[in-house]
Amino acid sequence: MSDETVRLECPRCRLLMRPEEYESHQVLFCSTCWGYWLTAETLQAILDDHRYHFSDSERKTILTLMQRVGDVDRGNESEAISCPECGKPLTRKKWLEGCPVEVDQCPDHGVWLDPGEIKELQIFAESQSK
Ligand SMILES: [Zn+2]
Ligand SMILES: [Zn+2]
Repeated sequence: MSDETVRLECPRCRLLMRPEEYESHQVLFCSTCWGYWLTAETLQAILDDHRYHFSDSERKTILTLMQRVGDVDRGNESEAISCPECGKPLTRKKWLEGCPVEVDQCPDHGVWLDPGEIKELQIFAESQSK
């Protein structure tokens, strides 16, 4: 998925996602559910970047959210979705060691991030790098 000819449907809404830049990395964005589809390499690059720094209050809010996520199941979000590229079901698992955030992944194509998950991962990665 390196150029704008990529036209994939959102695994949740079945609507076309649009190419977008996330902190200057190429991702696909669903403007309906605000989810992101990106390759594992891109996600790792974003997490390694630390380009964006979160304010203390932002960090606190998201960390509190993450705590809650660790405790309870995400309800209807755990409903199975499939890879927009190959149609196989995505596997929901942890992306980073020790991080409570779980993301939907296709071993061959990429990662689906629900709204907020990318920031949760970024904050976790940032807190680990200190
Ligand atoms: Zn969507
Ligand atoms: Zn796939």
